Amino acid sequence: MKPNEVRVSDSERLSCSSTKIFIDNGHGQFTAGKRSPDGEFREYHYNREIAKRIVSDLQDRCYDAELLVPELDDILLKERCRRVNAWCLIHGKQNAICVSIHVNAYGNGVEWTEASGWSIYTSKGKTTADALADCIAEAAKKYLPNMKMRADWSDGDIDIEEDFYILRHTMCPAVLSENGFMTNEKECRWLQTREAKQAITDLHVEGIIEYLEQVGSVSCQNR
Ligand SMILES: [Zn+2]
Repeated sequence: MKPNEVRVSDSERLSCSSTKIFIDNGHGQFTAGKRSPDGEFREYHYNREIAKRIVSDLQDRCYDAELLVPELDDILLKERCRRVNAWCLIHGKQNAICVSIHVNAYGNGVEWTEASGWSIYTSKGKTTADALADCIAEAAKKYLPNMKMRADWSDGDIDIEEDFYILRHTMCPAVLSENGFMTNEKECRWLQTREAKQAITDLHVEGIIEYLEQVGSVSCQNR
């Protein structure tokens, strides 16, 4: 830290942004499967690394971001949703968002497969999460110019609608991103580069901030 830099304390952080940002990292260290065919890439570990980066980047910009699952274990989806909803019930569901970070997989788990690309999911129907998904997807196109965008345009927007538990049972806007395929050898190797980790972090941070600005929730730096 440079001498004239101001350190933002945790208590100041909590009061300086009007929206709580929950970043969820899917799976735990003992979750079966959820790894590359060669076993080297472990999804729980990667998700956590990216989630931590997103949280600290947002906190540095004075947003109230928090890891939903600081534990290494696979916390039940029901408990993850309970944590989000407990906060929403006190502070209002319009004052929180939840973004779940994942890496996709395809095939039998023992052989590399060709499926590739980036995607974002919301729960079914027109929901408040659609705008959040749009903002993150726009940033994904910018930060991942060489990656295929997997989309479902049938309802007019890029997000794919799925009844994932974390999306259906959280009260606030919630989205789930699948950041490439750990079962695609080339993509799996790329995901582990410094460049990829930075791009995936940046696209979430930029997309989340864009959404918060659209809904009028700003960090203390912009007030
Ligand atoms: Zn996953």
